[in-house]
Amino acid sequence: MAMTFDEFGRPFIILREQEQKTRLRGLDAQKANIAAGKAVARILRTSLGPKGMDKMLQSPDGEVTITNDGATILEQMDVDNQIAKLMVELSRSQDYEIGDGTTGVVVMAGALLEHAQKLLERGIHPIRIAEGYEMASRVAVDHLERISHKFEFSATNVESLIQTCMTTLSSKIVNRCKRSLAEIAVKAVLAVADLERKDVNLDLIKVEGKVGGKLEDTELIYGIVVDKDMSHPQMPKHIEDAKIAILTCPFEPPKPKTKHKVDIDTVENFQTLREQEQKYFDDMVQKCKKVAEDVGATLVICQWGFDDEANHLLMHRDLPAVRWVGGVELELIAIATVSNDICVFCVRWENCAKISRVDTREAGQGNKMMIEETKRSLHDALCVARNLIRNNSIVYGGGSAEISCSIAVDAAADKYPGVEQYAIRAFADALDAVPMALAENSGLQPIETLSAVKSQQIKDNNSCCGIDCNDVGTNDMREQNVFETLIGKQQQILLSTQVVKMVMKIDDVISPSEF
Ligand code: ADP
Repeated sequence: MAMTFDEFGRPFIILREQEQKTRLRGLDAQKANIAAGKAVARILRTSLGPKGMDKMLQSPDGEVTITNDGATILEQMDVDNQIAKLMVELSRSQDYEIGDGTTGVVVMAGALLEHAQKLLERGIHPIRIAEGYEMASRVAVDHLERISHKFEFSATNVESLIQTCMTTLSSKIVNRCKRSLAEIAVKAVLAVADLERKDVNLDLIKVEGKVGGKLEDTELIYGIVVDKDMSHPQMPKHIEDAKIAILTCPFEPPKPKTKHKVDIDTVENFQTLREQEQKYFDDMVQKCKKVAEDVGATLVICQWGFDDEANHLLMHRDLPAVRWVGGVELELIAIATVSNDICVFCVRWENCAKISRVDTREAGQGNKMMIEETKRSLHDALCVARNLIRNNSIVYGGGSAEISCSIAVDAAADKYPGVEQYAIRAFADALDAVPMALAENSGLQPIETLSAVKSQQIKDNNSCCGIDCNDVGTNDMREQNVFETLIGKQQQILLSTQVVKMVMKIDDVISPSEF
């Protein structure tokens, strides 16, 4: 800071920009960053698993969201801290690549950070910790591959696919309808899946919600739902084998680009103008009725509006029409009707069985909040079904895969003579955080439950023993049909390790100070 004077002798103070900033260096930086990351993970920890709690979030404009989906909670939390933002990104990446496991990945990262903090306090260099974690994550990912199972399904036998989607839905608010929603998700995914190429384009599945109705009313529609009325109330509401003209241009006479003035001084002139306009519309209607080698459209779907005159004529010439249809929907109709030429082209309506749309309605609370959560849950289920079609390997859930990995990583630690050994052991302990959170959230004693399950896994050499969250009476996840995709679990471990490594490597934090 320096005091100086301007040309009139008035004093003023120069503040160097640097002085407006706070700065954390070395271990202090790492510790502050770890604390921020842990704080975020602590919030999500209670939402993990079938008995996880939901969070209620209010946006600045008063809109309320209730959810237990990790990615959504973090997205709406509006965090300020940069490291906390990294955790948000972490959850988002898991959501983007896999679609499920967004809470688990943050819980895992939180546990890794917590154990890293203990190692830092014992004087281990952050880079050693990062390297140890990297080695351990490789061991865990390989081990997951070893304990994975192939998951059998075919286009006719989809029961196992449905069961997996049900595991995903069981931890959501909509779990009372998990069977029917899982069936819908699987059918929708199969409708758009290419089983030979093992690919699914989820963009072809639209999930739509409508207020008023029950969750049980949710249905799968093979086709496209355009939630619009016919442009004229007297047009037919039901058209079979429709041939559709898709218009991305307005249904009106072209407008001159420059301004013109029309003087109409006689009744005759007015009549002529009116007739001309009418003829123009009539020509357009006739064109629609006789396009594509005289196929003739029986329905017009238009992206824009048409004025009353055109509407009236369409009705009189028996050409039902729908106006103001969204661009995306129009494109979907074009894809479904196997048409590249969107402008005016007619194809038969039944061809479009490839696009599914799920209708979710919820009454009672009858509100948007519930619909939004149902949509998110369905999205997770759709992603799980898609992942299984892409790669049909699974690992068992309920924390069993993490416990098994923890045992494997712990055993591998002995092979490393260096300081990394401590980090590898810490990684094994961090893996236990997921089953512990599952147990805690289900009202069980976390440490006791974990140690019992762990010793059972070792004694029986059974990697399927997990936490019996729903008090079914067995902790063999094979019998409970609780499983997750192998790629999802591997991704959780890889992504959380990457984020923690990144945090470990930051040793200088420069940020604007509060005032
Ligand atoms: P995420 O957003 O990470 O998917 P969830 O809240 O959906 O988080 O919880 C997923 C965790 O809950 C997984 O570890 C899964 O194995 C476990 N889980 C789901 N259903 C059950 C169940 N019935 N019994 C035990 N664990 C379950």
